[in-house]
Amino acid sequence: MKTTSQLLLLADQRRPRTQQREIGFSDLRSCRKRTGYKLAGTEPVNQLGSIQAVIGSAVHDMVADIMRQVAEPGDLVEHQVTFAGIKGHLDRYEASTETVVDTKTTSSRWLEHIKLHGPELGHLWQVSCYCAGLIAAGVPAKRIRIEYLARDTGEEWIWPGTDGMLLNPRNVRDAMQWLEAVRDADLDMLPRDHEPDSVFCLGCPFGGPDGGICWEGHVPERDRRTVRFVEDPDAAAWATKLWAARQRKKADTEDEDQAKGALDAIRPDDGGRVHVDGFDKDLDFRRNAKDPEKWALYFVAGAS
Ligand code: SF4
Repeated sequence: MKTTSQLLLLADQRRPRTQQREIGFSDLRSCRKRTGYKLAGTEPVNQLGSIQAVIGSAVHDMVADIMRQVAEPGDLVEHQVTFAGIKGHLDRYEASTETVVDTKTTSSRWLEHIKLHGPELGHLWQVSCYCAGLIAAGVPAKRIRIEYLARDTGEEWIWPGTDGMLLNPRNVRDAMQWLEAVRDADLDMLPRDHEPDSVFCLGCPFGGPDGGICWEGHVPERDRRTVRFVEDPDAAAWATKLWAARQRKKADTEDEDQAKGALDAIRPDDGGRVHVDGFDKDLDFRRNAKDPEKWALYFVAGAS
């Protein structure tokens, strides 16, 4: 007898996309160690996957199904794209606006983070590379748009607005440079970009609840992360790193408080969006959801 989550994970394990061993566009700017394992053809050791990923896959499948029914001439759905030797499937291409559209499911908590800081660079790289792949195939793709959907609240947040953003070639270039650096490095030298108890590592083909092959070799009976010390046993360097990180954090918090306090000068009385000459994003003042007396300040893509 299997539980709901076990059945969902089983379904996800059987999906062709999950079984794909080669790197995909979503690996760009993900964990460098994981990408290195894939490039080296390492056999996966963890079949578990993650429930969040299964829910995301189900949403994608449903969106793709309905899109196929309502697509307009020239629109593309779950379309295969090849770029720089990587194969992948873009979610949607809107022919009328020449826009590549990608759906990302997330938690409402992470959505707040995205609203505040903008899309993850990896998301921008992924969608930009889809766009570049389409252009290389002769499809007139000019814009990208990422639609974030919170799994728990159903809130949708579209970046950078419904019209999409013109493709920035720099995102494609940066993605290719990142990939080249990973390809050129020895697998042993590639950093582990997540922590062993994170959802990334728990659902990683080379990690998992027991640490997998990625966290093998740590100090017995100690934190799995001691494997980093085993590989680089320079206690003074680690202590210096911790000290510097704490100093940076303190300085960053002070800078954030100062800048946010100063910018309250240009907040419209009822909040809202403000364009700042000489800055490439707009500011968006909104009342704090939990304490309406306070204001939250978000960055949003500029109008032009
Ligand atoms: S287990 Fe974590 S750190 Fe290791 S390769 Fe996977 S995602 Fe990266």
